[in-house]
Amino acid sequence: MPSRVQESIRWGAALKAATSHLQRLIRIDTVNPPGNELGVARYLDRVLRRNGIPTTLLEPVPGRGALVARIAGSGSARPVLLLAHMDVVGVEPDGWTKPPFSGAIEDGCVYGRGAIDDKGMLACNLMAMLLLKRHVVDAGVTLTRDVVFVATGDEETGGALGIDWLATHHRGLLDAEWALNEGGRVRMVGGRPLYAAVQCAEKVPHAVIVRATGTSGHASVPLPDNPIARLAQALVAIASHREPLLLTDISRGFFSALAPVWPDPVEAAAMADISSDDPARIAAGERTLSREPSWDAVIRNGISPTMLAGGIRTNVIPADATATLNVRTLPGESITELIERLRIAVGQPGIEFRLRGSGEDAPASPIDSEMFDAVRDTLQVLSPGLAVVPFLSTGATDSAALRLLGIKAYGLLPFPLTQDDEGRMHGHDERLPLTSLHFGLRAVYGTIRRMTSAV
Ligand SMILES: [Zn+2]
Repeated sequence: MPSRVQESIRWGAALKAATSHLQRLIRIDTVNPPGNELGVARYLDRVLRRNGIPTTLLEPVPGRGALVARIAGSGSARPVLLLAHMDVVGVEPDGWTKPPFSGAIEDGCVYGRGAIDDKGMLACNLMAMLLLKRHVVDAGVTLTRDVVFVATGDEETGGALGIDWLATHHRGLLDAEWALNEGGRVRMVGGRPLYAAVQCAEKVPHAVIVRATGTSGHASVPLPDNPIARLAQALVAIASHREPLLLTDISRGFFSALAPVWPDPVEAAAMADISSDDPARIAAGERTLSREPSWDAVIRNGISPTMLAGGIRTNVIPADATATLNVRTLPGESITELIERLRIAVGQPGIEFRLRGSGEDAPASPIDSEMFDAVRDTLQVLSPGLAVVPFLSTGATDSAALRLLGIKAYGLLPFPLTQDDEGRMHGHDERLPLTSLHFGLRAVYGTIRRMTSAV
């Protein structure tokens, strides 16, 4: 049984080792672009092989890296995969009070770019592999399934040289039925973990170009079809357009499980309403929740204008002007139909829409599954009473690529974090409290141990 095996693990020593790995991972600069993940891949490769775990080190293009390792099980069940990315976003050093690549420990936290996203989870996944090898496999206990460790690069710029490259060129290395990745959250409120959101699906990103055309000419003679003015009018219409409410099984499950523990009574009632079957209550819940942008983004397609271009000189009316919209659709929603709704909302001549690119529209991972249960049961042992809720993330992760391969992936950033600490992700003074690292390590190990135990 997992509990007996876990008792032999000295968690204090395991946390110390995880902390040291995390510090070393932070010190290897993998800001993407350019990425340069090979240094981290080599580090992981050394540690895993030194501990008797076979690895495959890959170099998609010079300097970029990917690492895959596998601990063999009996094969009585299909493999489970642990995924984390090695690259990080850039820093504005002036905004930091600690050097961003030092891995300094202060105030009980490890500081540095990637501490939360995603080197913290990378360190936990690495330690989970080492603990499984040392305390389970080497102790003579057979795992029911293989455990696959995957470290990707290039996640922060879309994954072309990361998960997509692996899926295209080394599909066999990703052979698994289940996966655990980043993409969820464990939220601390009032000094204790309040809920854990387990990502089961994600919105699909699209880039849509809006182009206004008109007559070019000398600016001394104002023209009624000036494309810059036309584009501005179109953007006003787009900004006030609202996509209809669309509740998925996951967002219903999310709000219904969160409602009983949510501290704000007005929002809690709205969560219960929106997950009910009564149209009047659903409408009331929608009105309240849509006031908060982060809830609103979960219940409908979202449209954010992000870039503008037009004009060449102060005295020339240009022939065209363009805006870029970042659109996020709910899984299975048609971007073509959404663009048609925008065209109608704009309702003026001289405006063209063009879809420049789309992310992966992947099927959701089931809420009702042994992996979701393993995550929930593990977290509730670590934090009794914790609400564990399914979650549809508005951001994109490598999990979409796994889901397209038929792997049921779940997103769990396993660190209890306050809103303030979570907000440091991609921001200044990113840090991971050591207590959260400890929780995360036990969460990852516990989940994988449950998944590899004979019932
Ligand atoms: Zn990430």
